[in-house]
Amino acid sequence: MSIYWCTNCLNASTRPRITFDERGWCNACQWMEEKKTLDWGKRQDQLAELISRHKGRGQYDCLVAVSGGKDGSYVAHTLKTRYGLKPLCITVRPPLSLDIGEANLNAFINSGFEHLLVSPDTTVMRELDKIGFLHYGQGYYGWLISIHTAVLRIAEKFGISLVFYSEDGEVEYGGSTEKRYEGVYGIDYMRKVYLNETYDTVMRVANVDDRDLYWFRFPEEMANSLADIEVTHFSFYENWDPYRNYLVAKEHCGLAENEEAVVGTFTNFAQNDQLLASLHYYLMYLKFGFGRATQDAGIEIRRGSMSRAQAINLVNLYDSQAPLDNYQAYADYFDISLEEFENTVDKFANKELFEKVDGSWRPKFVVS
Ligand SMILES: [Zn+2]
Repeated sequence: MSIYWCTNCLNASTRPRITFDERGWCNACQWMEEKKTLDWGKRQDQLAELISRHKGRGQYDCLVAVSGGKDGSYVAHTLKTRYGLKPLCITVRPPLSLDIGEANLNAFINSGFEHLLVSPDTTVMRELDKIGFLHYGQGYYGWLISIHTAVLRIAEKFGISLVFYSEDGEVEYGGSTEKRYEGVYGIDYMRKVYLNETYDTVMRVANVDDRDLYWFRFPEEMANSLADIEVTHFSFYENWDPYRNYLVAKEHCGLAENEEAVVGTFTNFAQNDQLLASLHYYLMYLKFGFGRATQDAGIEIRRGSMSRAQAINLVNLYDSQAPLDNYQAYADYFDISLEEFENTVDKFANKELFEKVDGSWRPKFVVS
């Protein structure tokens, strides 16, 4: 298997849907370049126009998906203070949530937001997460589903027709460029892209009573009442900068960073809210050959604060770190033996990219 890396950042050719230009730059780096001369005024006009279509329709002007982390907090804060919107914020409680994540979410709420915490039945979440893990090597598939499905249900209940997510990861970090010039989508697109065949299989295989799947099932029966809904990523309307988001969330929404380093990367201010995140990123590494440090380093390179050589050092140091300390907690959560947990991790390691040496997975490739 051939693997190569973006000649500007370190995005790997194995990243799903990624594209490269003749210079060997990935689509995230091309986009970074294009953003420098983009007509942001036009996009601000598009945002103003979008807001004017929805503002004042009901009790809330929009729904914002937040976790208490930097990005959602930044978006909610900006919509409220700069655009004068009254947002309802929503979080689906992650499985195996961490203290720092809960403290950050509380601090965010206390900084002046109306917020709903949706807590689906933990045993149902576990069942869906377990199927996702055993069959697809996903760390928290059930939770990922609910970020879309629970949000739609709450939007419908409160008559909210505008939904904001933070960033379009495909455009900003590498992947499909389909939505580069199109900011808004409806529920059909959400169903097609975010709730695809994997979703259909997981929901079919799950041994769960249909009523218990309420927060996870795409609400087909609400298609009519959700026909007007417009879903968008805030990153479409301004130059998205995760570090700027962090500074704003820290100053205005009480965001605190982790005191210890996070397994698998060198940053301590992103995705600290749940223990399963480390598993999610480690499985991504074993499947595709790039981990969380590669992603984080790419962001730093594109914002001009890290050289590619520095990034290679960090990636070599951190990407292959397995969250070994958490393995027993993961096995307990999925309600399987430690042995079955480890075998499943091994099953999803890409054997063309990795070999097992002294009990741990080592890359056969050298990042260059
Ligand atoms: Zn790149």
